[in-house]
Amino acid sequence: MTTIEQYCNTLDQKSLFIVCNDCNILMNELSSCNCMYVNAFASIVSPDNGFDVAWFKQFIVDQGIRHFILVSHYDCKILKFLMTDLSENPEWLERKNEILELAEEFGYFKSEGERSMHRLFDHYMALQLQKVREYSRKNHLESDYKIYISAIAVDERNLTVNEIREMSVLPINESLN
Ligand SMILES: [Zn+2]
Repeated sequence: MTTIEQYCNTLDQKSLFIVCNDCNILMNELSSCNCMYVNAFASIVSPDNGFDVAWFKQFIVDQGIRHFILVSHYDCKILKFLMTDLSENPEWLERKNEILELAEEFGYFKSEGERSMHRLFDHYMALQLQKVREYSRKNHLESDYKIYISAIAVDERNLTVNEIREMSVLPINESLN
């Protein structure tokens, strides 16, 4: 595990952090490190959340960004809300089902407390990372602009960064080959 400052120092390309709306602590850290960031609801980087090809190109072409970093955080109020919400509100039903299915698939147990939740959030982010990489490949962003997409999880309690790898936490998915 590394601190946020150490992590920022390892970046050798112009990078853009995509940070969940309620992760204020990281936004403060990033602005003091002089790093670029934008917000995304629950770190969901998908076309239906406004992150389409035009969005990527705007940062790649206009800002020279070559590394996009998806950020999850362990004190995410949005994910915690989705996991306990009993409404069937269509606005976030799909997102809610996604995290609940993941919780079932990977065996999340409330009784195990924080550790289990952090593991679940890591799986969640690994899934988002896989989806964004697939989208980027399908739209030739990777091949045309040589961009790189990665993900991290931030632990707010001690301000450290954990790198998330899609392959290390998700079952091998045929679509990745
Ligand atoms: Zn959050």
